[in-house]
Amino acid sequence: MDFSWTSEQEELYDRALTFARTRLAEDPKRQDEGFPRDLWRLCGEFGFLGLPIPEQHGGLGLDTLTTARVMEALGRGCSDTGLAFSVGAHLFACVMPILEGGDDAQKARYLPKLCSGEWVGANAISEPEAGSDVFALKTRAVREGDEYVLDGGKSYVTNGPTADVFLVYAVTNPSHGFMGLSAFLVEKDTPGLQVGRPFEKMGLSTSPIAPIYLEACRVPASARLGPEGQGAPLFKRSMQWERACLFAAYVGVMERVLEQTVDFARGRKQFKRAIGKNQAISHRLADMKQRLESGRLLLYRACWLMDRGQEAAMEVSLAKLVISEAAIQCGLDAIQIHGGMGYVVESGIERVLRDAIPSTLFSGTSEIQRDIIASNLGL
Ligand SMILES: Cc1cc2nc3c(=O)[nH]c(=O)nc-3n(C[C@H](O)[C@H](O)[C@H](O)COP(=O)(O)OP(=O)(O)OC[C@H]3O[C@@H](n4cnc5c(N)ncnc54)[C@H](O)[C@@H]3O)c2cc1C
Repeated sequence: MDFSWTSEQEELYDRALTFARTRLAEDPKRQDEGFPRDLWRLCGEFGFLGLPIPEQHGGLGLDTLTTARVMEALGRGCSDTGLAFSVGAHLFACVMPILEGGDDAQKARYLPKLCSGEWVGANAISEPEAGSDVFALKTRAVREGDEYVLDGGKSYVTNGPTADVFLVYAVTNPSHGFMGLSAFLVEKDTPGLQVGRPFEKMGLSTSPIAPIYLEACRVPASARLGPEGQGAPLFKRSMQWERACLFAAYVGVMERVLEQTVDFARGRKQFKRAIGKNQAISHRLADMKQRLESGRLLLYRACWLMDRGQEAAMEVSLAKLVISEAAIQCGLDAIQIHGGMGYVVESGIERVLRDAIPSTLFSGTSEIQRDIIASNLGL
């Protein structure tokens, strides 16, 4: 592997970091007040909402590794991890499947609006009885002439309360298992689609999440994404993108928090010397650094394989597992080193932990990642 970045990649990373730090900086008064549409549009303006989408469709046309690197800049520069998470969910689980599974008309209708920030996309697969086991879906799509009729409910839809288009997975043939799922693009004003009350949650507070309900929701057959029965491969591929590139944002978060915590450990004095001079503190920081770099290397390798079109399921799961668990530990360590200040909301440190906790749940839980790794080991 070549570990050097090209000058174009370095320049793009620096620009993305500066943009995230300056233009996406939160108004502290607005924290926790829901989805920031104005910042979303700025994300579109920079290109964050279409990083790997070809320029002809409104994106930046980046490869996987460069996409991950720019997501890293977003996570490092923007202290609102909720916004970075919404960007990742939109881009990797809705926009990418449209690029990879859509026909020309679907690409022309959706990609420019989704890349520019005019529209928000969402992915709806999880159901009350089908979380980790996505093949237990109950939502049905029944073909009637030139239409499909969708019935069912989806439990956790990131961006749901603000989304303009939903990528909905439904069973079209219950006897076909993996090949019995199909994907549909359902626009927000479609009769029969209802967005439920947003959930209050522990972290990622600016990234809204809600259930959606589909009741005799009719969509034209042209709303199906890809051939009938191709929903599962599309979803699997979108999770590969999400597990790799969305989690790059958490690498950036860990880098920011480590820098901040090292600064704090150098400046904070107790017993007449900087607390960082105590090995108990400096070793904790060294371990934070080691976890950050291990996750980063696993991530780059996974993206490098994806760019070569090689099988990367296990490498992607290894990266997702290590980064998500490291992000939680990073939050705990940062709080411990900041002492009482780390527990105070105003410091922004406790938020790192709250924003990291769900990362071992979404995009497939840690247990599911370990299952994927184990099955690749032949178990
Ligand atoms: C912040 C957030 C955002 C989300 N956004 C979206 C979204 O945009 N769209 C969407 O469709 N979904 C979304 N989800 C849902 C997410 O994908 C699910 O929460 C996840 O797949 C787990 O499903 P579950 O919550 O039903 O848990 P369950 O599957 O019920 O699992 C509960 C526990 O059992 C464990 N478990 C389950 N099966 C096994 C097994 N075979 N072996 C060992 N352990 C097992 C799990 O790992 C977990 O610890 C989001 C979730 C969160 C927290």
